Amino acid sequence: MKIGVIGGGQLGRMLALAGTPLDMNFVFLDPAPDACAAALGEHLLAGYDDPEALRRMAESVDLVTFEFENVPAETVAFLSQYVPVYPVAESLRIARDRWFEKSLFKELGIPTPEFADIQSQADLDAAVAAIGLPAVLKTRTLGYDGKGQKVLRQPADVSGAFAELGSVPCILEGFVPFTGEVSLVAVRGRDGETRFYPLSHNTHVGGVLNLSIASTDHPLQALAEDYISRVLTRLDYVGVLAFEFFEVDGGLKANEIAPRVHNSGHWTIEGAECSQFENHLRAVAGLPLGSTAKVGESAMLNFLGSVPPTDAVLRIADCHLHHYGKAFKAGRKVGHATLRCQDAATLQARIAEVQALIARG
Ligand code: AMP
Repeated sequence: MKIGVIGGGQLGRMLALAGTPLDMNFVFLDPAPDACAAALGEHLLAGYDDPEALRRMAESVDLVTFEFENVPAETVAFLSQYVPVYPVAESLRIARDRWFEKSLFKELGIPTPEFADIQSQADLDAAVAAIGLPAVLKTRTLGYDGKGQKVLRQPADVSGAFAELGSVPCILEGFVPFTGEVSLVAVRGRDGETRFYPLSHNTHVGGVLNLSIASTDHPLQALAEDYISRVLTRLDYVGVLAFEFFEVDGGLKANEIAPRVHNSGHWTIEGAECSQFENHLRAVAGLPLGSTAKVGESAMLNFLGSVPPTDAVLRIADCHLHHYGKAFKAGRKVGHATLRCQDAATLQARIAEVQALIARG
């Protein structure tokens, strides 16, 4: 089976690594000449709206999926005329715009921070008066890894904040005094069968995911599954969906969804019976889903900017290296390590070892 993937970054690369043993071949559309997934499939080097490249993809693949949510709506509409595209276009439309996303949570009765649509500085002033400070101003689209957002702590932070984010449509969110951040990765097949991975505890540094630890019997697992199921059913979703939550007051508040495989699910490559990547491919291809059960105690640490020397990473017991083959650049996600251990105490010790290695630079 030939799979077209919109985007050729590390998520596409890991999809191909999971799909190759299933006799799947990959075609990546990515305008970057150094797209790191290109090592594992055919690379259509063109813009996401390039009609010629889209035609070539539509002619040569059995289905199309994507590895990031900012795919132009026209691209999905064009490809959908010729081949199945999963997940459904509606999930992209919603996930790439924080206003649509938060509005969907509200419609589905999923708790989320208070929010308001901001089209001008006057809107922002009015919303701050209603929601109060602290609050977070975020661009509605194209924000990721803490980019396109600003925390407003005091009145002086408010004036000029709309211009600082580029005078583009934004939302203002109430600041959530969370005790932790968790994410749920779920997979839904073409027939509606749904499976859930254990919740991941996530730690961010400067808005970027740093560490994910797979939980065991998390008390909020069932609640998170209920919330994500509402979204999956409403969208008639096919594939992997990730849902990020804040833990607050013993419950959950929805932050955002990602209609794709997710960084907080990378531990599943070694830490689950069937990884999020393989399960995404199984789902979109209409194949039976794999088990989402955890194997041992597992965690993932991102390598940002550079990857430590391979031998140093592999010298750490229970540690697996994923090098994305990307050029090193400050702050860029260029690899990760997965740890899979017998017990939670060993896992904590190994996490400290990887962190010490990262700190050595
Ligand atoms: P996001 O891009 O929306 O996932 O935000 C990146 C990170 O900023 C989150 O993982 C949180 O650590 C923090 N953050 C985002 N929104 C809020 C909020 N409303 N209240 C408190 N922290 C937030």
